[in-house]
Amino acid sequence: MPHRHKIRINGIVQGVGFRPFVYRLANECSIAGFVNNIGSGVWVEAEGEQKDLNTFRDRIKKEIPPLAVITEFNFEETAPLGETGFIIKSSEHGRKATAFISPDVGVCEDCLSELFDPKDRRYRYPFLNCTNCGPRFTIVHGIPYDRSNTSMQVFPLCHECHEEYRDPKNRRFHAQPNACPKCGPSLSLHYGNGKKVETGDPIGELVSFLRKGKIVALRGIGGFHLVVDAQNDDAVRELRRRKGRAEKPFALMAPDLEFIRKFCLISEEERKTLCHHIRPIVLLRARPDHALAPSIAMGHNRLGFMLPYTPLHYLLLRGNFEALVMTSGNFSEEPIAMGNNEAMERLAKLADIFLLHDREILQRCDDSIAGISTCGPQILRRSRGYVPAPVLLASPIRKQILACGGELKNCVALARGNAVFLSPHIGDLDNPSAFAFFKNSIGHLQKLLEITPEVIAHDLHPEYLSTKWALEQKNIPLVGVQHHHAHLASVMAENGVEEKSIGIILDGSGYGTDGTIWGGEVLVGDYENFERFAWIKPTALPGGEAAIRQPWRMALSYLHAVYERNFLDMDLPFLRSRTQEEIMVIVQMMERGLNSPLTSSCGRLFDAISAVLDIRCEINYEAQAAMELEATMDESEKDIYLEIKQLEVEAGALPIQFLFRAVVEDMLRGEEREKIATRFHLSLGEIFLKAALKAREFCGVNRVGLSGGVFQNIFFFNYLYGRLLEEGFQVLTHHQVPTNDGGLALGQAVIANAKASLKSF
Ligand code: ZN
Ligand code: ZN
Ligand code: FE
Repeated sequence: MPHRHKIRINGIVQGVGFRPFVYRLANECSIAGFVNNIGSGVWVEAEGEQKDLNTFRDRIKKEIPPLAVITEFNFEETAPLGETGFIIKSSEHGRKATAFISPDVGVCEDCLSELFDPKDRRYRYPFLNCTNCGPRFTIVHGIPYDRSNTSMQVFPLCHECHEEYRDPKNRRFHAQPNACPKCGPSLSLHYGNGKKVETGDPIGELVSFLRKGKIVALRGIGGFHLVVDAQNDDAVRELRRRKGRAEKPFALMAPDLEFIRKFCLISEEERKTLCHHIRPIVLLRARPDHALAPSIAMGHNRLGFMLPYTPLHYLLLRGNFEALVMTSGNFSEEPIAMGNNEAMERLAKLADIFLLHDREILQRCDDSIAGISTCGPQILRRSRGYVPAPVLLASPIRKQILACGGELKNCVALARGNAVFLSPHIGDLDNPSAFAFFKNSIGHLQKLLEITPEVIAHDLHPEYLSTKWALEQKNIPLVGVQHHHAHLASVMAENGVEEKSIGIILDGSGYGTDGTIWGGEVLVGDYENFERFAWIKPTALPGGEAAIRQPWRMALSYLHAVYERNFLDMDLPFLRSRTQEEIMVIVQMMERGLNSPLTSSCGRLFDAISAVLDIRCEINYEAQAAMELEATMDESEKDIYLEIKQLEVEAGALPIQFLFRAVVEDMLRGEEREKIATRFHLSLGEIFLKAALKAREFCGVNRVGLSGGVFQNIFFFNYLYGRLLEEGFQVLTHHQVPTNDGGLALGQAVIANAKASLKSF
């Protein structure tokens, strides 16, 4: 006696080989019926004996294709139709489209062996892909995910490709970007003036240009890379000069793990992250004697490496280079270039040679970056490979929400039901083209996800361009969200926690509810509310923004706060490299309270220490002073300052001056900077541990979330995380979104939902 089940499956189930997978299982389980893509996911009607139906359903869930994610699985009985045979129906249009589109996926092993197989018809074809790999998010302009909704629509399939596309037993069945040399996209090589390089072998030609030290703009999956030979220091320096990027480290790509091992140490967790099909840049510990160009990562003991993720990368690297610099195709802090004409224009002064292709990129997506801490991979930049997979919430939100994010490392989010979709990394909004990308991303994601915001969440900072943009939107209720509250809610949300938690939120700056700049905060709160339990005792930011670019000003600020004018004749190296006038201008500025706003920023404390140790007194990229301070540490040092061990910590302003004083005294005593740097990290961790213990005593909450850009410092993160565990805390950390402001929008979204529900907009 046959039964028939209607099965609805939602999640990332389109464009990942889900229908052929269901088709195969149906045949193996003797099930009749059909499978179909619908707007919200996949629809199956299955008819057969009860026990076969049960096996069929179980196997769908258990044997799910590698790239698929099931978020909902429902079924119900319906009347049997007496069907025989199982078919795959073509996609249905016009329905409300809520299916998740898959992120872009690094080339798979099967495709890779075809790429290097001289007998294969796709031998050395740079655009080969299949259902298990290739571009997705970056080539889609609408859903359902069908070829007609992608930038592949202009390449009609040839006969052979069409046969593969139609055959449910083929690896390329319904692989929307399927292509071959006969019918698919192709490469072309150009000089900087646009003139085509006449050659039958653009990749071979490109290799010889790179060997000569030329700078190449290479069109990839989510935009252009600027590429140079990583062992040619002159080429790397020239790239720095042209890009306007004095010292910030460059990302690297090597042909395989063995080459990366020549330059870096790789732990098991790091190996897994490098090899994952997401293919992020992974920050690895550099071997001190590595043979790469010295100017790749000055002042750093880490290198950012990724493995090739497109067929083109493999063709370019394998057998040709040990490593290439692969940095975003842009001037510093601008969004990555993606169109051919756009790149030829914007990158004209940067690159000598352009490798173009004609598969349009519809949404720019930078490389993602991950670092590995003691509790696993942490995403520092969440873009290609992650976007647009959602962060799933413990319980659904009531409204459709747009969260605008912060100002630096901006990233926006759209939320509906139990899913929060974060945009790719957008960048620093004070850059006009980044701001244009911000607006464009909001539009593109609204369309792709069919989300119409009913509430808009924004930061409280009145000068953030994201805030200003939100305030211009008419007829949509707004919710302003305090910056560090959003950080706390973000780390709670991605861990499925909605109940009151303690948050140790440490970053460079965020607008406080009292109008001052916060950044060294211990909060207690849930999504609706929070209180500020403790914070770094505020110090002056002499000259405002200038103090951020010039850490020596922060060192003066702390010195003055602790010693008043008595520090002026101290024998500190960084003081000797400033003139008396320079120093007195700052001192008088602070004493008169001129342009010296107060801040509790933890980032600025790291800056001050970095300058006092004479490691970095002026910066040319964000967080440089703190990163170089981290790189200076002697990690075998275990000493915590005695005065910090004995320190009593109460709610309110944390007496950070004791820590600062201990560092200065060490320095005056002639202690090694490597040891002082470590003692500072450990002692600061102890202070926040004590604050968390105090907060637990006060509010009876044993859960503490760590968030904010300071936790990108892996050593500091590992130490505080370990100490909190030792004290029996449940510790919430970021794994799905960045701990920096790139993760802010997630927190804004859940807070806006909670507040909007209260106010019943
Ligand atoms: Zn493949
Ligand atoms: Zn073809
Ligand atoms: Fe922040």
